[in-house]
Amino acid sequence: MQDNDDERFSGSKLATRAVRAGQVRTTEGEHAEPIFLTSSYVFNSAADAAARFSGEQAGNIYTRFTNPTVRTFEERLAAMEEGECCVATATGMSAILACCMGLLAAGDHVVAGRDLFGSTIILFNNILTKFGLTFTYVDSADLTQWEDAIQANTKMLFLETPSNPLCNVSDIRAVAKIAHDNSALLVVDNTYCTPVLQQPLKLGADVVVHSSTKYIDGQGRTMGGAVVGDKKHVGEDVFGFLRSAGPSLSPFNAWVQLKGLETLSIRMKAHSQYALEMAGWLETHPSVERVYYPDLPSHPQHDLAQHQQNSAGGVIAFLVQGGQDQAWSVIDSTELFSITANLGDAKSTITHPATTTHGRLTVEQREEMGVLDNLLRISIGLEDVDDLKKDLQRGLDRI
Ligand SMILES: *Cc1c(COP(=O)(O)O)cnc(C)c1O
Repeated sequence: MQDNDDERFSGSKLATRAVRAGQVRTTEGEHAEPIFLTSSYVFNSAADAAARFSGEQAGNIYTRFTNPTVRTFEERLAAMEEGECCVATATGMSAILACCMGLLAAGDHVVAGRDLFGSTIILFNNILTKFGLTFTYVDSADLTQWEDAIQANTKMLFLETPSNPLCNVSDIRAVAKIAHDNSALLVVDNTYCTPVLQQPLKLGADVVVHSSTKYIDGQGRTMGGAVVGDKKHVGEDVFGFLRSAGPSLSPFNAWVQLKGLETLSIRMKAHSQYALEMAGWLETHPSVERVYYPDLPSHPQHDLAQHQQNSAGGVIAFLVQGGQDQAWSVIDSTELFSITANLGDAKSTITHPATTTHGRLTVEQREEMGVLDNLLRISIGLEDVDDLKKDLQRGLDRI
């Protein structure tokens, strides 16, 4: 756990904080951040050890609790989200788990957007319900549904915007108001946008969670996650769970990902620019029925997306003319796109949500969400966008 107290960059812009915040140079004078691969730390004396353990003396004890490399990552991300404090976790899912375990208790109720990341829904429905938590799902873009789902025991609202896979955009400020009017917390999963494109805490959210496995790593190498928020909820409650339960971020992964933060600004700009170009091109192709991308004027929440996000990121969903056969044939005609459900990589990816990420849902659930058999989701990487268009055109022209 690390407080955002690197005052040196508090007046700087995000891209500067992404490169500079959190670094503490050792006596070796190294330019790049070192990796502290150590599980424990030594004390000068028995009395020092006792003082460290009792909390009287600040400092490292054990890497499950704190580690200098992990701390640099946490402080840098906290500075970028403009949160008081950040706790890094082993994966994105353990960030969401730590958030629920740290902030909720048996008997509490959570309202969540219906179109969350698939494993988040499984964690909520199959695991956390065993411990006395209950969940209600709503159409995340419909404020009336959020309001109507609130119960006397609602303690948390959980939102992902833009959503997966259809890129629905929800009004963070308005959902935060509903949460606060009802003494609940708003947690936003900001994995898709990263702080470069959207800063939920500045819009009123209480806590932000990340899967840093995606854009923050950016090259599909390591797993990681983070929770960002204030000192009470994140620094005490979430960290309290993490230091005892143990899904902490490894120092090596923290190092890869803190270097990832240094290039995040330019990467997110490039992903967004290429994706917008691709989305506009897809809209003109006769084999494409509909494109879902928040920066297109045809998107139902285009205006909201324009003022809530700096740009729309790398993920596009689109319907092809026909059904599953046509969708699969577009996938199988690609040579460049990787056929994988992952996203946020320098390598572009293509997936058929109805038979992969959303395959465990019933046909009715999928139809209600709009995850139809002719839907494809692509994550635009950093290859040349003309090559990517050619790669999709091959399959689309055949429909
Ligand atoms: C991938 C992802 C997660 C889970 O993260 P892991 O690092 O895979 O555990 C959570 N939320 C969103 C939006 C994701 O894309």
